[in-house]
Amino acid sequence: MSIPKNYEHEYIESKWLTTWNADMYRYRGKPGADSFIIDTPPPYPTGNFHLGNALNWCYIDFVARYKRMRGFDVMFPQGWDCHGLPTEVKVETTYSVTKNQIPRHEFRGLCESLTRENIALMKGTMQRLAFSIDWSQEFVTMDPTYFEKTQKSFVRMYRGDRIYKSDHPVNWCPRCETAIAFAEVNYDSRSTVLYYIIFKGGDVESVQIATTRPELLGACVAIAVNPHDERHERLLGKRIRTPLYDEEVPVIGDEAVDPAFGTGAVMICTFGDKQDVRWWKKHNLPLKKVIGKDGRVTDSKNNGVSISEAKERIIEDLLENKLVTKQERIEQNVGIHDRCETPIEILSENQWFVKIDKDVILQRAAEIQWIPPYAFYRLKNWTESVEWDWCISRQRVFATPIPAWYCDECGRVLVADEGWLPLDPTEEAPRSACACGSSSFTPEYDVLDTWMDSSISALNVAGWPDAAYQEHFPTQLRPQGHDIIRTWAFYSILRSDALAGSKPWECVLVNGMVLGEDSQKMSKSLGNIIAPESLMEEYGTDAVRQWAAIGGSVGSDVAYNTKDLTASSRFLTKLWNVFRFAMIHLSQGVEPVIYGPKNSSEIWLIYELADLINSVTSSMDRFSFDEALKDIRSFVWNSLADHYVEAAKGRLYERDRYSLAALHLALATIAKLLAPFCPFFAEELFLHINPGEESVHLQAWPELNIELQESVAVELEVTFSAAPDNVVIAASAAAVSEARHTGELIKEIISGVRRYKSEQRIALNARIEGVFVYTDCDIVDGATDIDNALNADITYKRGEPDIHEMVTEIRPNLGSLGPRFKSEANYIAQLISETPAQEIAEQIEKGSVTIGGIQLEPEDFIIKKERAIEGVAADVIELREATIIIKHK
Ligand SMILES: [Zn+2]
Ligand SMILES: [Zn+2]
Repeated sequence: MSIPKNYEHEYIESKWLTTWNADMYRYRGKPGADSFIIDTPPPYPTGNFHLGNALNWCYIDFVARYKRMRGFDVMFPQGWDCHGLPTEVKVETTYSVTKNQIPRHEFRGLCESLTRENIALMKGTMQRLAFSIDWSQEFVTMDPTYFEKTQKSFVRMYRGDRIYKSDHPVNWCPRCETAIAFAEVNYDSRSTVLYYIIFKGGDVESVQIATTRPELLGACVAIAVNPHDERHERLLGKRIRTPLYDEEVPVIGDEAVDPAFGTGAVMICTFGDKQDVRWWKKHNLPLKKVIGKDGRVTDSKNNGVSISEAKERIIEDLLENKLVTKQERIEQNVGIHDRCETPIEILSENQWFVKIDKDVILQRAAEIQWIPPYAFYRLKNWTESVEWDWCISRQRVFATPIPAWYCDECGRVLVADEGWLPLDPTEEAPRSACACGSSSFTPEYDVLDTWMDSSISALNVAGWPDAAYQEHFPTQLRPQGHDIIRTWAFYSILRSDALAGSKPWECVLVNGMVLGEDSQKMSKSLGNIIAPESLMEEYGTDAVRQWAAIGGSVGSDVAYNTKDLTASSRFLTKLWNVFRFAMIHLSQGVEPVIYGPKNSSEIWLIYELADLINSVTSSMDRFSFDEALKDIRSFVWNSLADHYVEAAKGRLYERDRYSLAALHLALATIAKLLAPFCPFFAEELFLHINPGEESVHLQAWPELNIELQESVAVELEVTFSAAPDNVVIAASAAAVSEARHTGELIKEIISGVRRYKSEQRIALNARIEGVFVYTDCDIVDGATDIDNALNADITYKRGEPDIHEMVTEIRPNLGSLGPRFKSEANYIAQLISETPAQEIAEQIEKGSVTIGGIQLEPEDFIIKKERAIEGVAADVIELREATIIIKHK
């Protein structure tokens, strides 16, 4: 079969994509087999599988393919985390409706069809990236088969007293009109004004308090000062009246008040921020609501106006009454909703919560292996900072319904039985009456936080809630981004403990983010977004996958870099050239079992290969994909292409069965080691050199057994046999060690002379003469290899060469002659140029020089010396155990 001159990625990729049988990647689930279950992230179906996703999934695929080749029964499932606000917003803008204008099920239907279109788009990109996903394990969280599990998990945790409903302050996004969890709140520094406001009346004459939120004056329930602050000592235990609203509130002492902030006296409102909630709970203060769910003010003065308008009005009133003493611009950290960046409010609402037990989460987390290890501390810091339980109810539509109703008679909550699931309470009545006997119910319209769906993904892939799931739980690997440690990792650990009493995975593999070429976060506004499709188009999938492997160590952020892509293509071109050359010889067949007398280059190659397999295996076990690929590349470039193929080419043309077997072994090994990284290229290579074999992706990970047989034979003999790769070397350990040693020296000599040729700008295949190698090593069996590789006829000598210095050129130094001889200088220079260099050199040696009767000094000459051997100028290359001399003509 003829092999195209160039590696044409479009042709080869589409050929294998249509040829491969999806069954290759199927999870067998056979009892007794070593399962390796991956809790793959279910991405949000935006329709765009971006480069950051590509990095994440490449890591997963490297692991999946490697583990399969190591004999594991790998489950690489794929889910889609469908529910959530962005899809609702997209539907609202596409169809110019709001969720309240059309029936819930109709709105949900529009969200579902948009989601299916987006899944199809992303799936297309993932397939082109050659991820070895078992698509028979696909799950879609909006499908009833999945959300039944989410509902079941809700019911079980409710019955197990881990979920409750209560009035409690929650983070509220006024734009999205829904409660959100702390994990969805980001903090952003924003500029704001600090107002100093006078409170007076009651037991106290007056005090100034500082606040950034005067619009919450109507919600003020106390004034707080630090009890050790002498300025305010007189206020403790007193009562004071609020300005404008004229309500009496107590002054309380609390050490959390910072005396250095503002005046050292602050107002506690329900609720300005998290600290207000802490004080409200601690001091058992009353609740005054002044902000509604729609973000509009509800108090008597400003009913129905927006928060910002209420703020303006109140400041105006305060100024009019001369109650503001000072205004100061400050920077403040403001909580914002991560999806829409709107500043959040804290409202007290009746919501569903999951109990958080920090100690249990930390204990489970500590049982898990975190890669890189510092990822554990991200989870730990987050867990320690959590103050409230997880609010899981959302006031939206496109989400898993909460399977509950409220009795119209007695108000009791009725949570569905597991057997009724899946269901939507807004469309179905409960199948039993209330404990009070009533059958009249109002459904729960709230839905579940999307993380309630995705935080049972590990349980789902293991087969939960079927009892057999326990055989596959905990799963082996959770790959995920570091940005969702506080959400997806945290909630998954919590849920796994609640539902299975165990950690969800043995190991978490964390990936960093992909940055633009400018090292900034990729964003539309910076215009630095690069789509995986365009890279696959230009460089091919296998190059993109190499970029993912080599861009950085696992866990670190990776900046996109065109150089990495071009280096990846260059590597494939190099390997393609080696492969084409090899096929000239290998296509005529390789004897499966051969033996023959030793050749140092082959012994050297076999041991290099064994070292390579060891180092790549160890890197793969540590998820150090960058190191694994670097080692493979370095072997291909240096050991194989630049050295072995050059050294052995003469013998390959002579069909030396030894070098044929060694070359075959090397290429088959490279194909297998590359299979996780470059699945297309590896397949093409492997099946060309092993016609009729099964796919490289069904092969075992390479293992090279070198068996030494202390033989009585005088000569060293080598036997190759394939599958498993086995090399038997019949010789003493000393003889093998000597052969490896010689092989290394052969490589050093060849690369030394090749480097010399390139420095001298001599074509690599140009013939050179006059090469002598001085060495005490026995190089006999490598001499032909060296001659062939270098296109030279080398003379070998023992001992050290007698290298001396020789003057090869003497020129006049006008810088010295000029000032001394003025107008005569040029004439003298002419004389010097006409005198043989050697003659002048001998005079300089004696200490005085006379040319044409003129007395000259040594500094009047520019002397060029070169190294020489036996009186002939030569270049010298010093190696550890040899010296190479190249005589000038
Ligand atoms: Zn929002
Ligand atoms: Zn009732």
